[in-house]
Amino acid sequence: MPIELEHNVPLAPFTTIRVGGLARAVCTARSFGEVTAGLAWAQRSALPVAVIGKGSNLLISDDGFEGLVMRLAGRLSSIVVRDGGLWCGGGASLPRAVLRAAKHGLAGLEFGASIPGTVGGAVAMNAGAYRSELKDVLQWAVICTPQGRHRVGPDDLDLRYRHSGLDANEVVAAAAFHLDHDDPEAIMGRLGEFRGHRRATQPQGVRTFGSVFTNPAGESSGRLLEAAGCKGLVIGGARFSPVHANFIEASPGCRADDVLALIREGRNRVHAAGGPLLEPEVRYLDPVRGITRPPLEDVG
Ligand SMILES: Cc1cc2nc3c(=O)[nH]c(=O)nc-3n(C[C@H](O)[C@H](O)[C@H](O)COP(=O)(O)OP(=O)(O)OC[C@H]3O[C@@H](n4cnc5c(N)ncnc54)[C@H](O)[C@@H]3O)c2cc1C
Repeated sequence: MPIELEHNVPLAPFTTIRVGGLARAVCTARSFGEVTAGLAWAQRSALPVAVIGKGSNLLISDDGFEGLVMRLAGRLSSIVVRDGGLWCGGGASLPRAVLRAAKHGLAGLEFGASIPGTVGGAVAMNAGAYRSELKDVLQWAVICTPQGRHRVGPDDLDLRYRHSGLDANEVVAAAAFHLDHDDPEAIMGRLGEFRGHRRATQPQGVRTFGSVFTNPAGESSGRLLEAAGCKGLVIGGARFSPVHANFIEASPGCRADDVLALIREGRNRVHAAGGPLLEPEVRYLDPVRGITRPPLEDVG
């Protein structure tokens, strides 16, 4: 099957924080077959693969990526209400899926209204908010690999707090949700409440990638960072948000290295103040290794 490939593509516009270098190749896949063909092409070419959704939890290296970036479009970004359930392509916008469900009186996805990623990214990250997470509502997902595609249930994906067991060669190409029936107006009311809470507590209209660190058990990373004096701290073009210390905001000219230096500084300060070693929630696109944890040397 032919695949659509572009070369030397800037990746910053594919992310919400808008930093990072060029990808050697980008494949836009519009069907299960194209996803599989793209992954197989990368495997034959001995190139690492990284699938990018809305890039809302992703920091891309200033040196870009010496591999194949895959993006999902066309049918793989569509949202369908069928037989009282919701079917989404892996590239579908999660907030749009939430709205579509609400309009059809399907409840349970409301927590995703302000999570600005794709359905595939939400599965891969087990995204969540307001004490709900994706694994609570996932019915099944279609996973494409270089060999083909298969359908899995939530128990097959090792979904935990902001974690799944998916590897780079496993692309969430579609997902279906089991949702409850409720009055559309009641659902819209809950969406309004969640959105209002976000506006009151998180930075708005700025370039961020959401929470920098996961919350340690029983604690809030935002509170720990604030107590360690990180709120408003600036390195280069990156600063810990004055609104919520667990968000990093990028200003024009910000580099990924500024963001990494600030992540390290925040982590070191919390640890030096007697707190835990915070674990990053954000993923990092390394030029050679692909998607990984941001490189943070350990303290002490
Ligand atoms: C303002 C703001 C608020 C946020 N609030 C929340 C929140 O409340 N809760 C929360 O959990 N997150 C939150 N986030 C983080 C982010 O939106 C979620 O992690 C989201 O699920 C990431 O989806 P994405 O499509 O942007 O993934 P990306 O950032 O593009 O990628 C993230 C990871 O998912 C993988 N991935 C993406 N698509 C696929 C796919 N189709 N198949 C397999 N793997 C894939 C990538 O390879 C990468 O490892 C927030 C982010 C922002 C900017």
